[in-house]
Amino acid sequence: MLNEKMIQLGENSSVIRELFEYGNRRKAEIGEEKVLDFSLGNPNVPAPDRVTRSFMHLLEETEASLLHGYTSAPGDMSVRKAVSEYMNETYNIGCEPTDFYMTAGAAASLTITLRSVCREGNQVIVFTPYFPEYKVFIENAGGVTVEVPVRTEDFQPDFEALSEALSPDTAAVIVNSPNNPTGAVLTEESLKQLAGYLEEAQERFGTEIFLISDEPYRELIYDEVKLALPVNYYNNTIVCYSWSKSLSMPGERIGYIMVSPRADRRRKIFTAICGSGRSLGFVCAPSMMQYVAAMNQGVTSDLDEYAKNRQLIYEIVTGCGFEAVRPDGAFYLFVKSPSGDGKEFSERAKKYELLLVPSDSFGIEGYVRISYCVARKQIERSEEAFRALAADYGLL
Ligand code: PLP
Repeated sequence: MLNEKMIQLGENSSVIRELFEYGNRRKAEIGEEKVLDFSLGNPNVPAPDRVTRSFMHLLEETEASLLHGYTSAPGDMSVRKAVSEYMNETYNIGCEPTDFYMTAGAAASLTITLRSVCREGNQVIVFTPYFPEYKVFIENAGGVTVEVPVRTEDFQPDFEALSEALSPDTAAVIVNSPNNPTGAVLTEESLKQLAGYLEEAQERFGTEIFLISDEPYRELIYDEVKLALPVNYYNNTIVCYSWSKSLSMPGERIGYIMVSPRADRRRKIFTAICGSGRSLGFVCAPSMMQYVAAMNQGVTSDLDEYAKNRQLIYEIVTGCGFEAVRPDGAFYLFVKSPSGDGKEFSERAKKYELLLVPSDSFGIEGYVRISYCVARKQIERSEEAFRALAADYGLL
């Protein structure tokens, strides 16, 4: 007998993927240049040359059996040491190599972490809008997803709603800053408030509530915005990181889990992470990718390219009369539907060959997400289409 739940998951591919596939069909019909595909969050800026050179160096200089062999289950110790040193130098965390568990990207980090903190029927709070896979990962860990809204004027958490949602069954809260799909960055004030609510709830219920900080966009920050890291505000924090976006190598599948050195049961949590990784078969993240990541601490793709894209797309979209909060990070712009219906907005945009993801996939109605990690030329070409779409709504 097959697992019905898995069949269902396999059948229902994400709306984002469907839109991307639709785009590919359209490209075949009318030509690549004519389709304005803003659907996927696949970095278009190439990985830095230094990363390419690291690959070459490793291939030429390392004995193959070592390079391609197993590392220990949580990752190679020299790699964990390099990452730990970098985190201490850059963010003053006070961590040790033994707080790190190397993974095959943020998706694996989240899956392992959720399974290690969640028991059957436990609740995991997510802020809407959120990365759609959270729900899949939470359910896989036996948990129940509890959605809490953000304030739509600035996309910071609605703390009154959070306070109502916290319960003796709350195992964890997931935050994602900079955020997919809004591009919002959690302010220091929000993090202080969040920590206050979680500490109070732990005390009141006599439970442990973990803050899972999903950070694949950590380095993608614009202008003068200062990133406040959740781990520096709340002790029971577990960080889920990946180099997918910062080094433009999402296909290489490399990231880590870091347990806060200030977590109340730091070592026990790490042991549970190891057990969870083992139970899922997520041991020994890709060896060569671990070494490449260790050799490129603090290196990023040319993030200035995204900053320029952000400026241009924001000016085009708001210049046409659409409403959007200016994103502080990541590479997404979240735009309000003039009709109040995100699906309708996305469908109408297709008439002008604009592929925009409707927000209901992210657990909120009434918006579309624009991924601006695309060629600058595509953004320039899209202006005419956005103007025609705006005229269709009577905005111009
Ligand atoms: N979390 C968020 C918010 C994301 O946007 C993504 C990917 O787009 C992931 C996690 C998964 O990242 P990875 O490719 O490193 O598994």
